[in-house]
Amino acid sequence: MPAPVIGVLALQGDVREHLTALTGAGAQARPVRRPAELDAVDGLVIPGGESTTISKLVDIFELREPIDKRIAAGLPVYGSCAGMIMLATEVLDGRPDQRGFEGISMTVRRNAFGRQVDSFEAPVEIAGIEGGPLHAVFIRAPWVERVGEGVEVLGRVSDGRIVAVRQGNLLATSFHPELTGDLRLHRHFVNLVRA
Ligand code: GLN
Repeated sequence: MPAPVIGVLALQGDVREHLTALTGAGAQARPVRRPAELDAVDGLVIPGGESTTISKLVDIFELREPIDKRIAAGLPVYGSCAGMIMLATEVLDGRPDQRGFEGISMTVRRNAFGRQVDSFEAPVEIAGIEGGPLHAVFIRAPWVERVGEGVEVLGRVSDGRIVAVRQGNLLATSFHPELTGDLRLHRHFVNLVRA
């Protein structure tokens, strides 16, 4: 089977790191900035960065409706950190004007860990990923405060906070696997796109 084409929403954030990780995980990775580029992908990554900025740029680049439509049609999407926030149906501590794609039925709290400690690293066991816990890097990360029906909790940090979820074709983590060189989570997403 040819390698699936996976786009990285390239408006702001750590786009290059995801492109590198996806390539290493066996995908044809491409930046996505235009609706026509979105049309050409089999899956999409929304990177970490700043969700308020990504939200604004999604409108400026006229990508909101095309992404909403592809998500509704079943496009596999993986959101990391700010990308997780962009996939949530409800955001706490967000800016009133920020808007996401509302694909995963969950409430996330923006900068949640940041009120305790800005950045930290921790081992996180992820359901469906073999080989031991991932070394998870959290940077002003959100956590998931509530999940709705149909949302599978894939991982938690040691205090029980939910940091990885999946609902259907949508996957989200509070942390940044693209920064560690461990490709297991990207491979997991590439397999989801293949299936
Ligand atoms: N705090 C950022 C936000 O609100 C997310 C941080 C990140 O993506 N590393 O979007």
